[in-house]
Amino acid sequence: MTSKLQSVPQETAALLERLGVPKAAVTGGSLSVMSPIDGSEMARVVEHSAAQTQAQIAAAQAAFVKWRLVPAPRRGELVRLLGEELRAAKEDLGRLVSIEAGKILSEGLGEVQEMIDICEFAVGLSRQLYGLTIATERPNHRMMETWHPAGVVAVISAFNFPVAVWSWNSAIALVCGDPVIWKPSEKAPLTALATHALMERALAKFGSDAPEGLASLLIGRADIGQILVDDRRVAIVSATGSTRMGHAVAQRVAARFGRAVLELGGNNAAIICPSADLELALRGIAFAAMGTAGQRCTSLRRLFVHKSVADKLLPRLKKVYGSVAIGDPRAADTLIGPLRDQGAFDAMQKALDEARASGGQVTGGERVSTAAGEGGYYVRPALVEMPSQSEVVERETFAPILYVMTYDDFDAVLELHNAVPQGLSSSIFTTDLREAERFLSAAGSDCGVANVNIGPSGAEIGGAFGGEKETGGGREAGSDSWRAYMRRATNTINYGTSLPLAQGVKFDVE
Ligand code: NAD
Repeated sequence: MTSKLQSVPQETAALLERLGVPKAAVTGGSLSVMSPIDGSEMARVVEHSAAQTQAQIAAAQAAFVKWRLVPAPRRGELVRLLGEELRAAKEDLGRLVSIEAGKILSEGLGEVQEMIDICEFAVGLSRQLYGLTIATERPNHRMMETWHPAGVVAVISAFNFPVAVWSWNSAIALVCGDPVIWKPSEKAPLTALATHALMERALAKFGSDAPEGLASLLIGRADIGQILVDDRRVAIVSATGSTRMGHAVAQRVAARFGRAVLELGGNNAAIICPSADLELALRGIAFAAMGTAGQRCTSLRRLFVHKSVADKLLPRLKKVYGSVAIGDPRAADTLIGPLRDQGAFDAMQKALDEARASGGQVTGGERVSTAAGEGGYYVRPALVEMPSQSEVVERETFAPILYVMTYDDFDAVLELHNAVPQGLSSSIFTTDLREAERFLSAAGSDCGVANVNIGPSGAEIGGAFGGEKETGGGREAGSDSWRAYMRRATNTINYGTSLPLAQGVKFDVE
């Protein structure tokens, strides 16, 4: 029960110590870290300066020159060791994620499990960085593709997946031969410091093949991120966060012809068809819309329900919304933790007012008091019945708001589904094969993730993760996402005694 839980600052200090974070890094600094659970100050973290940022970029660039020559399976060994450290520290790191991001304990632990999973994936990948051999039109020639390390990777991450996003990028980048500099969210530096301490343990065990500056951490705000974004020595900028941030980053990276992997905001939908298994749908909707208090990039935000099933589904959904357990995310019975801060609460209330002004009927959405005290922003998730997909529905509000709309025509609902600027995740609940296949077809969902009979949130690391349009177009984690962290060379080798020139050109030089 919540009453038996330790005070947040005390528990945080104990976790940081056990995870190997030096006290000096989290006391007396200029970055105050407030707990979403009760609003208490958990630490004052020391920030890096612009000069230190420059020095880290230089060290990473020097590390690249060495690391790119270490055989990939040996590079995989470092990631294997990181996976071992994460396994050993899973309970503590998962709990710290829960405390710093405000997500419930099973989600905190689940985030660390994803880190372990991507390490395992990357270790296997370290022996599978294949290129193609391609048929050539020239006699006695061979043509092939070789994949080489690309250079320094900067990872800029968001508060809501404070550590998993780093691991999706870093595990892959490191086996691909790239050093990684991490600039975590200024709202989540503690989990980053703890993860970095585990990385340092793995590096120490790995030994001298790992050069100085191979994996570093920069604590700072957007201005520190911008230094990474603008520096030509940073080959790849992998940035996760709001579309507003991505807009700024994309333009600056493009201006210097750098490479960006962008993982930005989503506005994810589910379509509930007449043939849907409503038991599945109900669970899928509840988890995807209310889980993590609506603070996942893949959270369900738009629900299209066929008119023939709306009367069966909506009353049950409202009941779940009215009874779901809200409170301290560390408590065993809690399903919904707090919003990150007052800013998130204000944005939610503003969106609800706007929805009301557009004819929306709001259930829930109010601040609730919990045993965690008055310092945190706990809200009842909001279900908003909308007459149409108005402007507020087209925007991502990073809070538990589910806009519900009814439909009667499948073509029309597909069009509405795609008529938002974002393109991250999507789902359909149906047992009609034609509807399912049409949703997955070229004329169906335009998102990077499209699911049938499961909700839009909760991606596995084995697949490529990311989305289209304003979500940024990047892909990370599984499948062949590794290609984004390497450069491709096409090689042609002539093992004959003549030199057939392209386009039949005869170029005599005698
Ligand atoms: P945010 O955009 O406020 O911050 C994200 C990171 O970007 C932080 O580290 C911040 O310091 C940095 N940053 C901000 N402006 C910058 C700039 N101009 N140059 C360089 N760095 C800059 O996002 P947030 O509030 O922490 O996270 C929530 C958002 O992230 C939501 O929109 C959510 O959908 C999105 N998100 C997307 C994914 C995905 O994979 N698509 C995953 C998690 C979160």
